[in-house]
Amino acid sequence: MISSSSTKPTILVFGGHDPTGGAGIQADIETIGATGGHAATVVTALTVQSSHAVEGFHPTTLDLMIQQGRVVLDDLPIAAIKIGMVGSVEICEAIHTLLNEHPDIPVVLDPVLHGGGGGTLSDDGLVEAIRTLLIPLAAIATPNRSELARLAPEGDSLQACGAELISMGCGSLLVTGTDHPLSGEAPDQVHHLLLQSSGETRHFRQQRLPHHYHGSGCTLSSSIATALAEGKTVEEAATEGLEFTWNSIAHGYQPGSGQHFPDRYRD
Ligand code: PLP
Repeated sequence: MISSSSTKPTILVFGGHDPTGGAGIQADIETIGATGGHAATVVTALTVQSSHAVEGFHPTTLDLMIQQGRVVLDDLPIAAIKIGMVGSVEICEAIHTLLNEHPDIPVVLDPVLHGGGGGTLSDDGLVEAIRTLLIPLAAIATPNRSELARLAPEGDSLQACGAELISMGCGSLLVTGTDHPLSGEAPDQVHHLLLQSSGETRHFRQQRLPHHYHGSGCTLSSSIATALAEGKTVEEAATEGLEFTWNSIAHGYQPGSGQHFPDRYRD
């Protein structure tokens, strides 16, 4: 007999829609499905973009977005929340309110500020809102190095910037190193840094792959969200997320003439 009860953990995603299908909500749905979870999704913004660059975006209707979030949080057993593109200060404030109503659900924050190929998905007001309203509620945030520098502009090193966000209440930070190789780093490797509020630091090194990949940050944060929803620790979730993402981009493909897309079904 087929049982109707599900053992898949449900992850609620707040994120933007990318019509190329490479990043945003579709990347989250693919990743969460491929890693064994169920994705419930609230769209924060619609974007206009190709596989080359973002051309524009339009935040969704605030009331509708709040209603969608409330209905899903009341109905489904949400085991983790993943936040990607936020779209506007007002939507950021609404997500903040919803998170405060459910303080026990672990939050993975991917502070999406621009598209991988170029083009902004935020403005200065939104960066400040993400920093003050969402960073303190995250179990883990996954900025790349340039996002970290915008969120913590005072810091003069990755560790100092990370420490600033942790002092604001962020549980841990996985700072990805694909975007800005530092001098002295091996060019054929990427170096990611996990900083935890306990003071523990862990370094991850992976082989650098040859292309630019659209949706790799979404893949990382969503795979971490599934692992946290399964009850894994932040360090286990970060380790699994990095491995899943590397495998997805190693099997990446180029559907258009711009960035390559991860293949999330080839883990
Ligand atoms: N969310 C949306 C809607 C996007 O369009 C993008 C990038 O274009 C992202 C998130 C972040 O993409 P990545 O995973 O490449 O950082």
